[in-house]
Amino acid sequence: MVQGVGFRPFVYRIAAGLGLSGFVRNQSGTVYLEVEGPASVLDRFAQQLVQEAPPLARLDGVSWHILSPTGMSGFQIVESLADTDPEVFVSPDVATCVECLAELFDPRDRRFRYPFLNCTNCGPRLTIVQGAPYDRQRTTMAPFPMCADCRREYADPTDRRFHAQPIACPACGPQLRLLAGNGDLIGTVDPLYSFAEAIREGKIGALKGLGGYHLVCDATAEPVVAELRRRKYRDSKPFALMVGSLEDAQRLCVVDAAERTRLCSPQRPIVLLRVRTGGTEIAPSVAPGNPLLGVMLPYTPLHQLLLEALPGRPLVMTSGNRADEPMACDDTDAIQRLGGIVDRILTHNRPIQVRCDDSVTRIIPGQELLIRRSRGYAPAPLALPQALPVGTLAVGGQLKSTFALGRDRIAFLSHHLGDLDHLSACRAFERDISLYEDLFAVRPQLLVHDLHPDYASTRYAQSRAGKEGLRLLAVQHHHAHIASCLAEHGLSGPVIGVAFDGSGYGADGAIWGGEFLVADYAEFRRAGHLRYVGLPGGEAAVREPWRMAAAYLIDAGLDLSLLAGTIPAHALRTIERMVTRRLQTPLTSSMGRLFDAVAALLGFRTRVSYEGQAAMELEWLAAEAAPGLSYPFVLREDTPSAAGRPLEIDTRPLLRALVDDVSAGTDRKIIARRFHSTILDIVEAVCRRLRRDWKLEQVALSGGTFMNAILAHETAQRLTADGFEVFRQQVVPCNDGGLALGQLAVAAARSAQEFEEG
Ligand code: ZN
Ligand code: ZN
Ligand code: FE
Repeated sequence: MVQGVGFRPFVYRIAAGLGLSGFVRNQSGTVYLEVEGPASVLDRFAQQLVQEAPPLARLDGVSWHILSPTGMSGFQIVESLADTDPEVFVSPDVATCVECLAELFDPRDRRFRYPFLNCTNCGPRLTIVQGAPYDRQRTTMAPFPMCADCRREYADPTDRRFHAQPIACPACGPQLRLLAGNGDLIGTVDPLYSFAEAIREGKIGALKGLGGYHLVCDATAEPVVAELRRRKYRDSKPFALMVGSLEDAQRLCVVDAAERTRLCSPQRPIVLLRVRTGGTEIAPSVAPGNPLLGVMLPYTPLHQLLLEALPGRPLVMTSGNRADEPMACDDTDAIQRLGGIVDRILTHNRPIQVRCDDSVTRIIPGQELLIRRSRGYAPAPLALPQALPVGTLAVGGQLKSTFALGRDRIAFLSHHLGDLDHLSACRAFERDISLYEDLFAVRPQLLVHDLHPDYASTRYAQSRAGKEGLRLLAVQHHHAHIASCLAEHGLSGPVIGVAFDGSGYGADGAIWGGEFLVADYAEFRRAGHLRYVGLPGGEAAVREPWRMAAAYLIDAGLDLSLLAGTIPAHALRTIERMVTRRLQTPLTSSMGRLFDAVAALLGFRTRVSYEGQAAMELEWLAAEAAPGLSYPFVLREDTPSAAGRPLEIDTRPLLRALVDDVSAGTDRKIIARRFHSTILDIVEAVCRRLRRDWKLEQVALSGGTFMNAILAHETAQRLTADGFEVFRQQVVPCNDGGLALGQLAVAAARSAQEFEEG
């Protein structure tokens, strides 16, 4: 990644510093340069080129040829051959750099306190780009003609704003405005200060940031946070916080070295941190019952100024939307959708082109677990294990949607688009696909989608393929999860793939999710799975975990008395009838649903307000108990896995033992911990069987259930101790946000096979 990151000025500086002559230019997403001088100095140059590259540059390789000297004089940055080279890598948005921060707070600087300053090393990128190639005319900065001072900096190869496309200053760039909730302009000399005052007084605000609007309020004021939660219709999903500095983060939470690095990185994700014990000033409504807080540091000059105006005060900084809709990203939309929620809107006149949510990450013992890869990360390229013979688009899943565009061995995995249940998310999905195709000059000839016939992404792929005469490839959900993990680690397979998640359409039409695969990129075989149980009412069972508890009790031959205290008798009877007669009750082997069932049996969730909530709460509970006993289960040995039919993991003994524990009044923490330990036992037992039958030692872990830190960490630990080589996802989410990468990797392998077969 060498474009839009200050690479050419850097080359200019080192060449000029060494007295070498020649030129440098952008070329097809690479940098091409010719340098002339004594051989020994050229060696020094080559060394510096790699070792001192700018912070945001990423060199995947350097190649060179020896040319005859032509007697060039001086060193120049020359224009790219634009007509022949439409390909430009657009970098992700980058948090304000140290030099720009110094200017922001320097009263002598002409950009003193200017909320939109940036340079070649920092500032907006993906969120403002409208087309290719990446230059100011094709960004939302086009309506702001540069002033003479900015133009001089922009044109000077030695300036740190050389060719910084979003360059701006108070004289020529975007400006802030303060609005009331109804959209009326509020006259004030200092909109930022007035907004900060309103927040200090306990008002709720909307702030136009980099990739969308945030809802903002004082995170220490319980009545205000509770009011925000009420207005936003958001039952209990945690709110993220923004704090002014690393020290502020450390005051609230325990921050280890790896977490510090992520917090302060140029990507500035939300990092999930453990709350300090011994009380915190954070309002309980920020993250009810959650031992973790999502914390981020300011990543734009605007955030820096706002936090500086409210010293030592952590702010709620949560996506500007109602319930689960996509985030608002223009004023009209914000006023319409957020007007009733907020008292003040701090906005500006630089449009947001690409709606881009904050990224979310977590460090679990030593290793990163990226939960949402979006702002700051997308669209940085990822490597594919094999080359794609044609431009390919993978459309991902339905929830936590992302897509990926591929050409050759490069994958551009998109920013997070949210759940495609929402019309506006679907629109953004289609619009951003065509933007990416433009930016990366990929005209897909092959579209890859999930097997699920009803995903909005599947329907998009099918209808587009029909209209444009493109080829289609369907990839099974859990195969894509495992392929995503293999691609991230550059493995070739076959491996034992453990894919645990909420749901994915199975090859037999059932809803899979507790799967053991033997897989490489091209093929997979289902080698083991959780015993099928009913999913009463389909989607309704996802929202109401008690339905899963009932289904599991019925399967284990137990009565439903355990649920009678919380669930009306008639509702239980209805479910019983649905399950026994298989009415609107598909079969599922989902691990996520087993977690839901256990959470409901422990009596702390009969309804969830977001997917995975029950499983998360079960993890927190288990984390409070020490590992100890686990529950029994049976591996159905009668069907050897290599002979065709998959192993079945019979969960009925588990259910019976767990119910005994509940009835005996065993501490819920201990039950939750025993349940987690049982899942670890299951993984270990099945992996051992598959190692014996298939002679495989590498294990890939993927699927959304592995966002559970206990499972992710301890599974890897146990299997490693048992001699397996274990891989889990770190830089690409293991949830459905990482599916599209796996789909591309499968497409590459299948295409290569077809090619070989002629
Ligand atoms: Zn900068
Ligand atoms: Zn200017
Ligand atoms: Fe999944």
